[in-house]
Parts: sequence; structure tokens; C-alpha cells
Amino acid sequence: MIRCMKENGMSCPGSLSPDSREILFLEPVCTHNIWGGTRLREEFGYSVQGDDIGECWGISAHPNGDGTIKYGAFAGQKLSWVWKRHPEVFGNLNYDRFPLLVKIIDARDDLSIQVHPDDVYAGEHETVSFGKAECWYVLDCPPDAALVIGHNAPDRKALADMIREGRWTEFIREVPVHKGDFIQIDPGTVHAIKGGILLLETQQNSDVTYRVYDYERLSEGKPRELHVQQSIDVITVPAPSAKDSVMHTLAAGDDPEETNQLRELYRCGYYRIFRLEVNGSASFVQEYPFLNMTVTEGSGMINGQPIRKGNHFILPYRFGNVEVQGRAQIIASTVTDEQ
Ligand code: ZN
Repeated sequence: MIRCMKENGMSCPGSLSPDSREILFLEPVCTHNIWGGTRLREEFGYSVQGDDIGECWGISAHPNGDGTIKYGAFAGQKLSWVWKRHPEVFGNLNYDRFPLLVKIIDARDDLSIQVHPDDVYAGEHETVSFGKAECWYVLDCPPDAALVIGHNAPDRKALADMIREGRWTEFIREVPVHKGDFIQIDPGTVHAIKGGILLLETQQNSDVTYRVYDYERLSEGKPRELHVQQSIDVITVPAPSAKDSVMHTLAAGDDPEETNQLRELYRCGYYRIFRLEVNGSASFVQEYPFLNMTVTEGSGMINGQPIRKGNHFILPYRFGNVEVQGRAQIIASTVTDEQ
């Protein structure tokens, strides 16, 4: 649905300024975390010091990490500013904020075990209206890697007992994963990234997180807060099967049909996730309200502009034909609900 906002001094879809069709390249925000590493600097080229770089918030308008536009008419502005002042760039969507957040996460060490509420629980118990669904695309991991996805409690009473009594080895379910796997984390899913895994996360633009367990670690001398009651309230019981929790995608180059096409990996009520493996030249039409893109491997050109591993950008509304040349992997996303 397109709303005309001329009465508010904003432009109508029929009168888009040429500026609004520029690719929005973003300067990301990196974070330091006790479990972080050095790969975001060494492999992705972000200029951040330290050996505890956990996350790169690549496409984000969240107040805790609001990306800056690098070039063009909006150079120097925050993504949240462009979203507010120029809704036509994103197809005049009816969300109160930029709806998605794309991160690259480098876990040198295990992350705490967490769960997120849905929109309803977040609306009733938190000061925000967004819960959090998120999904992971495994960019790299050791051969025997596993993620924590789900749990082994058969009912809510057993769940509460296991959590309150700290029976973690019984409670936690680890699922083996490989490079190229895709994992959807619905609200209510117990989850944790394990050390050695590098992944791209696409999520609702929210950070309401309940920490279930933190391996008894100390941060600045004390344990980080756990959210026991909220966790027991929101965790889905029983958890969906391990088999239904991980989707194995074909590795790059295994199938020529997969190459040079924007292929949808997944769709839920909040987002659609795509992968584009480019080897030579690919073209498609940007027909979504906007399309987030992150270069996760390689380099090349997009409509004449150079791109390389680590770049994050947004193709705006009505961008039209997209031409990508080179050898690269891109993970892309947009919203499902064009409300
Ligand atoms: Zn999470």
C-alpha cells in the first residue's frame, strides 16, 4: 500500500526525487563483547581496534547502533533519519521505525543462552512494541560446530524446574550446523551461538532479550543479570524438533541453477531472506519496498559501483534493474508485510 504524504511536505511516489534511487551504502557500527573476536576487522575490513569485536550492525536504524549513509544525497545522515524524513525511499511503509536489523556476528566464545518474546508479550511487559524474531545464515564454522537451538523440557513444569535448579546439561539442546545453513529463531526459541561460529543475523529491529543462562561467567567482576521468570513465561514448550530447526542450503557453486539468481531462502511474517551467488554476471529487478544487501564473500560491481566483502547497502524503492558482476555472495532481506 502506498500512502501519499504530500500534505506533510513529503514527496508522493509519483514525484520521487532522483536522490531517492541512489544505493544507500552504510557505515556500520561494531560492538565490543566479552565473547567477540578479531575476524570482523581482519576478514571484513572494519576499522575497529581490540580482540573483542562481537557484532557489526551493518544495516541498522536502532538507537544502539544507527548506521550512517556513506555517499550521495544523504551522506552523513543516520539511517533512522532517512527513514523518518524520506519514507518514499522505503516505499512509504507503515512501520513506526525501520523494521529490520542486519548484523554479522563473530563468536570467539560461547554467547549466553537467550530467548526473545513475541510482539504481544513485549507490548505487555516491556516499553517497546516489537518482540524479536531473528534468523541466522552460517557464514563459517568449524567442521564439528553446533548451535543451541531449543531445549529438552517436555512441559512447562519441567522447563521451570530445569531452569530454577540449573540442570543445564539436561535442558540445553545443541544442534549440529554447517557453513551455509539457515536457522529461523522464532520468538520463544531458546538459542545461543557457540564459539567459532561466524554468522549473518537478520532480525526484527528490537533488542528485547531474556538471558536464560550465562555459563556462570563474570563480566566486569559480576555475573550478568538472568531473566528467569520472563524466560519461563515465553519459552515455547515443547521445542520444535531439531530436524525442523535447521535448513541446509546448497553450498556455493554446487548447483549452477543457484548461481546468478536472487534465490529466496526463507520467508516469515516479518522478513524474507535471499541469497545471491554471483559468478560472472547476475541481473534482477528490485521489486520490493527496499532490499537490504550484505556482501559476505568476494567482490564485484553493482550497477557500476564497486562492492566487496563486508559492504552493507540498501536498494531503495523503485530502484529497477540491478546488475551485479564479479564473484561474490550476497545475503539480502526485505519485509514480508507491505503494510
Ligand atoms: Zn537472539
